[in-house]
Amino acid sequence: TELPADPSLENIPRQVEQACFSYVAPVKPSNPELIHASVEVANTIGLKEEDIASTAFLNMFSGTTIYPETKPYALCYAGHQFGNWAGQLGDGRAINLTEVLHNNESFTLQLKGAGPTPYSRNADGFAVLRSSIREYLCAEAMHYLGVPTTRSLSLMLSGDPVLRDVLYNGNPAYEKGAIVARVAPSFIRFGSFEIFAAREDHENLKLLADFTIKHHFPNIHEEGSQKYVAFFEEVTQTTLKMIVEWQRVGFVHGVMNTDNMSIHGITIDYGPYGWLEDYNSGWTPNTTDRQHKRYRFGNQPEIALWNLYQLANALYPLIQEAKPLETILDAFSTDYEKEYLNMMKNKLGFQIKKEQDIILIQSLTQLLENVETDMTIFFRNLSNITKADATTTAFNSIKEAFYNENDLKGTIMKDWHDWLEKYTIRINEETLLDAERKEQMNLVNPKYVLRNYMAQLCIDDADKGDYGLINELYEMLKKPYDEQPNFQKWFAKRPDWARDKVGCSM
Ligand code: AMP
Ligand code: MG
Ligand code: MG
Repeated sequence: TELPADPSLENIPRQVEQACFSYVAPVKPSNPELIHASVEVANTIGLKEEDIASTAFLNMFSGTTIYPETKPYALCYAGHQFGNWAGQLGDGRAINLTEVLHNNESFTLQLKGAGPTPYSRNADGFAVLRSSIREYLCAEAMHYLGVPTTRSLSLMLSGDPVLRDVLYNGNPAYEKGAIVARVAPSFIRFGSFEIFAAREDHENLKLLADFTIKHHFPNIHEEGSQKYVAFFEEVTQTTLKMIVEWQRVGFVHGVMNTDNMSIHGITIDYGPYGWLEDYNSGWTPNTTDRQHKRYRFGNQPEIALWNLYQLANALYPLIQEAKPLETILDAFSTDYEKEYLNMMKNKLGFQIKKEQDIILIQSLTQLLENVETDMTIFFRNLSNITKADATTTAFNSIKEAFYNENDLKGTIMKDWHDWLEKYTIRINEETLLDAERKEQMNLVNPKYVLRNYMAQLCIDDADKGDYGLINELYEMLKKPYDEQPNFQKWFAKRPDWARDKVGCSM
């Protein structure tokens, strides 16, 4: 290997210096059981559908056996958590099995919840069924929505109980242990670079940067310090695009710490994430962030930029010049505004260029914030408005999105009518026919997303050994933009009992 390994094989929590990773074997689970696997992800890494049912698959992706001539390892990284330097973190409950090359693409296969590593700090390295279901389903839902993400290969029960103190009633309790196998080009994070910069270990910083560029950024041909600038620029661009996609579908990551930021610009580490139900830019699903709301929906672009500053600082020793990094960072906000505007125009069905669109969009997001309005239902139903609609007809098309009928009076009602009047005038300027515009809009406004309560229903059933709903929702989420009349019941507002139901990651 080209990267320095931890010379110690001792699997106890500690500071690991001058190494990118530590060799560590998964713990053998006592009674592994496959709950679900993705045929498509299996195919992507060169496995056939039949392979999924094999003992070899069960053994490999539960951590029971190690594939011949592979040496599983945990990565060493650091990070800024909630704005503060957190020091060494590392793969505390993730173990990388190996890399595979298939169809000229390389993938890292990783188990999450397969036991402790030198980076587990004071935790156990295991994962509970509830957080594993959430990660498994959401990563796949995101993929099919067209949002860059890690993929989920399989979800297994370990057969071993895991002690947690965050169960719903607040008392420590045993829960079912589970293991998710996830797949990504690599699991290298912003924090992977931050750790060496913080330790002023510039030798390993350079080794890691060179390795990353050589293996994962083959289109970078610059030399010398320009190579690292080009790398930073690409990470900035892909990160920006990822955030635009999050805002498009209403995804809130919840823990945008720099150790949870992939250098591939893919969504990683699904913990206390959530989906906007009522459109509220101040909302975060993370109950530990309810005071400052650092990672709230509306703040995600700002935080991505903040995190990119940390990556820039970490790469600086290799570049020795602030200017090129500053230029890239300075462009972020204007680039983001541009991409965001384009994305929103697509959501509204605008193809031609109009100066006033930005005002129409801003007034819409304000209206959406005013009273509880379901984001997914609103945008999906917006495409039912036609050029000939009077505002009352147009309003009927979107009415279903409002949570409380009582909200719809006085100035609120008047503001909506004003907006809809402008909107119908605006779509009359479009050349596409109503049906064509609707088709275009439905490609960017999903009908089905993984609402928080839906994941919770899967969890409640799975706790009792019933995986029917996981299967059902998985199938539905594979085609989030399709009408799928057989799943119509999931195209509905969050039921009242599920208000602010959020999931926990640990
Ligand atoms: P997260 O907030 O899930 O991204 O985790 C932050 C850090 O804590 C990462 O280094 C994780 O690997 C580690 N961590 C989280 N949960 C566990 C666990 N159950 N056992 C060991 N390490 C953990
Ligand atoms: Mg993490
Ligand atoms: Mg995590």
